[in-house]
Amino acid sequence: MKSSILMIYTGGTIGMKQDEKTMALVPVDISQIETEVPELRKFGYKIDTCSFDPVIDSSDITPDFWIALCSVIKANYLKYDGFVVLHGTDTMSYTASALSFMLEDLAKPVILTGSQLPVGMLRTDGKENIISSIEIAAAKDDEGHPMVPEVCIYFESQLYRGNRTTKYNAENFRAFRSANYPVLADVGIHIKYNRHLIRYPDRWDKPLKVRYHLDTNVAILKIFPGITRQAVEAVMETKGCRAVVLESFGSGNAPTSEWFLSTMRKYVDKGIVIVNVTQCQAGKVDMGAYATGMGLRGIGVISGYDATTEATLCKLFMLLGRYSSPEKVKKEMQKALRGEISCG
Ligand code: ASP
Repeated sequence: MKSSILMIYTGGTIGMKQDEKTMALVPVDISQIETEVPELRKFGYKIDTCSFDPVIDSSDITPDFWIALCSVIKANYLKYDGFVVLHGTDTMSYTASALSFMLEDLAKPVILTGSQLPVGMLRTDGKENIISSIEIAAAKDDEGHPMVPEVCIYFESQLYRGNRTTKYNAENFRAFRSANYPVLADVGIHIKYNRHLIRYPDRWDKPLKVRYHLDTNVAILKIFPGITRQAVEAVMETKGCRAVVLESFGSGNAPTSEWFLSTMRKYVDKGIVIVNVTQCQAGKVDMGAYATGMGLRGIGVISGYDATTEATLCKLFMLLGRYSSPEKVKKEMQKALRGEISCG
């Protein structure tokens, strides 16, 4: 039976073309995507399209948008073999992270892609990104199971686990990086799947569960040499705040000054979950490595291991939405729920 794919257009550069008269960039009509990417006709797949209305620049993405996107996937889950989401690149790593935590027991591919140049422009990177994403979303193994039943980002010949990515280049065609986890597939003449790195469900027939309830009462505190008590307290005192992503130095280190540690301890004791991630582009938090990290561990700050800030934030949104107890949230944060950390 031929594979069926639902392509969901949300906005971003990929779906733009130049208006012939005004030369301004305008969104393409996604139902006419084959006019822009005629190669899609050569696939033997059934490719249906749907679009958000209005389409948005991904800098305008909100958690409500993720809920709407999950609803579309849920409503069409049994009808299609896989999903391709066309999305702006700016916040694609956040959306991929959020979807990975919201879609529980996912057993089908959800491939996000976008482009640096609009699909309607001559040198666009969008065509190849769309074509390969569809091929990956439709790919099955010898037993007829999807090759990659995960939320992924496909970009410039590489397939990444979505919640491991960060957008790191605003100009290059290779815009994403997954520094702490290898690519799930390399696309050249052949698509080489690294099957030992892909997460497969323990059972294929479990129904998809969607965690719609997100609590966004989370703040991010990026420390820097010279940070003041007022700056730290301004973040920690954010009204309603239930958790903080602490972006620390190196392998999870922070100042050992009395005022800093006692301020942090005060908020941990108040029940705020503080998760320590590194400001570095790669590597992991190890709060046992230096005295400067041990100070944080000693007061109850928990490790974010090698997770990205994007994944840590979205994981907290989902867990705070599910649990009222900070202890329960902390416990779940230590587990690799969707392959977002390399331990737990
Ligand atoms: N600002 C655009 C967006 O994220 C950039 C892009 O699509 O690459 O929607």
